[in-house]
Amino acid sequence: MGVSRRTFDAALQGLEPDLSLPDLIIPGRAEPPSRGQPEFLKLPADYLAEGALRRLAEQGRRLLNEHRTTLARIEKEFGVPATVVLAIWGRETAFGQHALGHSAVRVLATQAYLGRRKEQFRQEFLTALKILEEGHVPLHAMRSSWAGAMGLTQLLPTEFYKYAVDFDGDGRLDIWTSAPDALAAAARQLAAKGWQPGGRWAYEVRAPKSVDCSIAEPDIRMSLRDWFKAGFALAYDRHLSARELDETASLLMPAGSYGPAFLTPKNYFVIKDYNFSDLYVLFVGHLSDRILDPRPFETPWAKIAQLAGADVERMQQEMRRLGLYHDKIDGRAGMKTRAALGAYQKANGLKLDCWPTPALLNHMSRVAR
Ligand code: CA
Repeated sequence: MGVSRRTFDAALQGLEPDLSLPDLIIPGRAEPPSRGQPEFLKLPADYLAEGALRRLAEQGRRLLNEHRTTLARIEKEFGVPATVVLAIWGRETAFGQHALGHSAVRVLATQAYLGRRKEQFRQEFLTALKILEEGHVPLHAMRSSWAGAMGLTQLLPTEFYKYAVDFDGDGRLDIWTSAPDALAAAARQLAAKGWQPGGRWAYEVRAPKSVDCSIAEPDIRMSLRDWFKAGFALAYDRHLSARELDETASLLMPAGSYGPAFLTPKNYFVIKDYNFSDLYVLFVGHLSDRILDPRPFETPWAKIAQLAGADVERMQQEMRRLGLYHDKIDGRAGMKTRAALGAYQKANGLKLDCWPTPALLNHMSRVAR
């Protein structure tokens, strides 16, 4: 990999594992529960906290102005809108205000030594040494999150070599302190994952009163034109171009019947490929909109509770037994789980809301007995 003895020794000198990191398997110590990514365990209304969104959107507006020229070049080169790239920066590190609390080398070495995915992190660790060897960043400044994601837009070392761009032309790939380099890396990553230039991340819609929430899943797709024929209407009575009307999208109801609904085209899933969480996509997408339009979602989130993961897991198991659910048993009320809950409710003549509630859990436990 071209890593010299000098670079290796400098990075390894005094290096010790960081046993405070989550997701380690330490001999002689009981295995801790895997740290849940907050995207999966929080309610949409909590993850998409209004105060944070408003603050980030205001900062985003200032940064849009400050980095206007760079962002225009990025959009021209990669086809990803300035607001979306900024929103990723805002979500990942609050525009660089979140201090990255860890040495990337130490995190990656610890994960390669004691983590659950040793082989992957061994490669990441070696690639980090290559980054040091090439002098893109000095060792002390190579900071990361607890999970080893580095810099302003949070890339692992292997992603760094796939996507980082020397966009400010100083000869270094510096995603830690150069906003142009970090923003271009995020845009290039989205472009590589299939971002459709000119398309939106999602369209908030008003669902018809009679909506069957069990069709809110990614495998059920049609053109926006057909969704509108089926009774859906754009929030805030926004208007679309003819080209947009032909876009294919699926329906997303992140809180079942208890919040806003969205038609999600390809770009939605491109952001989801960047970070596999619907709440992450909603946050980034909504923040990107809020930078230009301060209005929140038209339909607010209703006050609902989140069932414990173990309870959602029991529901997933029961629905799998009934042949209604074929996805992972992970205790998370994701798209497929919510659609299956709707199918269960329909099959049993229950109120249709596609949301895991204690009442629905009770019903399933009674039926299962
Ligand atoms: Ca640079």
